[in-house]
Amino acid sequence: MIKFEHVSKVYTDGFKAVDSVSFEVPEGEFLVLIGPSGSGKSTTMKMINRMIPHTNGTISIDGKDITKLNPSELRRNIGYVIQQIGLFPHYTIEKNIAIVPELKGWDKEKIKDRVKELLIMVDLDPEVYGSRYPKELSGGQQQRVGVARALASDPRVLLMDEPFGALDPITRDQLQDQLITLQRKLKKTIVFVTHDMDEALKLGDRIAIMKDGNLLQIDTPEKILQEP
Ligand code: ADP
Ligand code: ADP
Repeated sequence: MIKFEHVSKVYTDGFKAVDSVSFEVPEGEFLVLIGPSGSGKSTTMKMINRMIPHTNGTISIDGKDITKLNPSELRRNIGYVIQQIGLFPHYTIEKNIAIVPELKGWDKEKIKDRVKELLIMVDLDPEVYGSRYPKELSGGQQQRVGVARALASDPRVLLMDEPFGALDPITRDQLQDQLITLQRKLKKTIVFVTHDMDEALKLGDRIAIMKDGNLLQIDTPEKILQEP
């Protein structure tokens, strides 16, 4: 459903961060982009929702060239989770999750039910946490809210940029397991960036290895491990 054809990104200072990359992500796949810092992972991912416009080549979603789609609509159909969760500190957890559905003009009752369902999905009791403020939650709990918020408007695609990078190993492990469960249940297409091979092998249906703006290999964890 996501297709890159010879996509490049040259930043305004002339730096080529992504160099003619081609790949496809089928519907429902969990794709992990891995590579050293500066290899072009974030740039690649951010081009999917036009947070960063690409310079050359074609990116399409369901056969539609993304440059021909309305940018706000494109973003609302793509959930986005990053390491610095960016919950609004003056909004309650419920309100933080409700923002995108509200923007979409959903019915109030429907949003309320949806927020509850999402909190349960990420293993937070809505009665306990819904009315709290972000600073009253641990880092791991806030990250769960980040995932719930990204899922709020039922996007087809979820972009995750090192979402668990700042968490302690035990919490990270729990959230990884939960994300695998969620993915199996919701069958979202996920593009997940990490520089941690263990995380990539655990989560990815396929792993794309990037270096210096190039895509070196894209394959299943089994095949990646077979490489000499
Ligand atoms: P990664 O996610 O793999 O760490 P990035 O996609 O963030 O890599 O960055 C790839 C390269 O592009 C890096 O060398 C980075 O310094 C450069 N880069 C990122 N953003 C910009 C920018 N706004 N202007 C110029 N160069 C950038
Ligand atoms: P508009 O262009 O109408 O202002 P927004 O930028 O508010 O549209 O986008 C709608 C929603 O999409 C936002 O509430 C936000 O959650 C999400 N969103 C906005 N920008 C980005 C982005 N760069 N990456 C991922 N999600 C985004």
